[in-house]
Amino acid sequence: MLTPDAVIAVIGSGTMGAGIAQVAASAGHAVWLYDIQPGAAKRAIDGIDTALSARVAKGKLDDASRQSTLARLHPAETLADLAQAELAIEAAAEQIDIKQAIFRDLAAVCGADTVFASNTSSISITAIASGISHPARVVGLHFFNPAPVMKLVEVVSGLETSPEIAERLCELALRWGKQPVRCHSTPGFIVNRVARPFYAEAWRALEEQVAPAAAIDAALRDGAGFPMGPLALTDLIGQDVNFAVTCSVFNAFWQERRFLPSLTQQELVLGKRLGKKTGQGVYRWPLEAKPEYQPQMSEEFAAKQVTQSGKTLELDGIVVAITSGMTATAMSAELKRPVVLRDRLAESALEVLAPSASVTPQQLAKVTHYFQRQGKQVLVINDYPGMLAWRTVAMLANEALDALQKGVAGEADIDTAMQLGVNYPQGPLAWGARLGWQNVLTLLENLQRHYGEERYRPTSLLRQRALLENQHEH
Ligand code: NAD
Repeated sequence: MLTPDAVIAVIGSGTMGAGIAQVAASAGHAVWLYDIQPGAAKRAIDGIDTALSARVAKGKLDDASRQSTLARLHPAETLADLAQAELAIEAAAEQIDIKQAIFRDLAAVCGADTVFASNTSSISITAIASGISHPARVVGLHFFNPAPVMKLVEVVSGLETSPEIAERLCELALRWGKQPVRCHSTPGFIVNRVARPFYAEAWRALEEQVAPAAAIDAALRDGAGFPMGPLALTDLIGQDVNFAVTCSVFNAFWQERRFLPSLTQQELVLGKRLGKKTGQGVYRWPLEAKPEYQPQMSEEFAAKQVTQSGKTLELDGIVVAITSGMTATAMSAELKRPVVLRDRLAESALEVLAPSASVTPQQLAKVTHYFQRQGKQVLVINDYPGMLAWRTVAMLANEALDALQKGVAGEADIDTAMQLGVNYPQGPLAWGARLGWQNVLTLLENLQRHYGEERYRPTSLLRQRALLENQHEH
């Protein structure tokens, strides 16, 4: 029943295998580590020793625990050494034939009730299970890197996976100090699917020369509260790794246009500008990405007349409004007034502004002065429909609703997955509700109209949520 006495096998002793073995051994299990490369399992255990010793040195772990954890870790010479395992977690290379061969070989040495879990990030669990004896025991157990640190585990069910086994793995993950979420085997599972717009919208803004990379990142980090801007994050993940995930999701969805990979990112990959690990990606590393804020405006730019109606301001005849997905120039043509749009999601120390073509430098200085007087840093970007933070969060919420509607996972699990798997400050569904589903819908409809692209189509559940929200208000 996967009690703490259960023997765990880990197949593949690279980055993820070593991390998962550390988690299982720390939770009290005897763990056998196997790798096709001779010596790799032993090296992984040495690496775990180094990681645990660092925790001891910091006073976060006592030495007796380090020693007992290490004593529970064993390198396996052959797959046959794994015969006693009640749970085998595969973290080998990301190729279906390799994963199937491992489970086929294991099925020949393990009992029929040994649970086979795969840490795959992109391969269908249904496909891995097909051709394996007792496919009901094959399940996805998707840890995040670094496994000992990241709380989230996606427990993924394929067509044949027994719900009871998935449930048992959730209980096990909880005992290991992890937060499990349940999902079905669909491309990208929860996190790697719902997160796509976070990167895609940043690449697009860069490609459309809306603002330099550092400003785009600042808008998402300081304006929206993400721990890191999307472009810096792709540098940290590795451009090759992030691009491969995007391509995999795009192709798995039959080249669905909203997952279209970025040509700019492909260029970085082709040029081996892979980010932090090669010293250059979007940025040069070590990272020094400071955006160019507006200079401090003097009192001569103080607006004489300030009026407010709802969330819209008027400063000496300049309309200052929160983006609704129209460009400032389109709004200005409609209102026959200069317009400056704000990318404001919530209270923040950063104010990102986009002026219409009709706004003079003097008028922009007035609006800048107004926000600087409130103690804010001001960034000015080119006129861009939906701006940066609003557009990204609306797209994330839309993608999360799409996953919800298609039964990939439940509402709470989707939000939990995005908060713990990629450290979003809020779950995209709770965030969308807070921003107002009607506002999210309007923004996406305006974007779709502006571009004439399928990419920004509001998902049907978004329309339903917006309708319900309107009914509640009346
Ligand atoms: P890695 O390259 O660090 O390690 C893979 C290990 O598997 C290597 O040591 C390799 O020798 C071994 N291996 C290859 N074929 C094998 C076989 N037939 N039998 C036994 N061992 C074999 O890779 P990784 O980053 O640890 O990824 C492992 C798996 O975890 C992949 O499926 C990957 O998609 C998934 N994953 C990776 C991450 C990540 O951020 N690195 C996150 C979640 C999931």
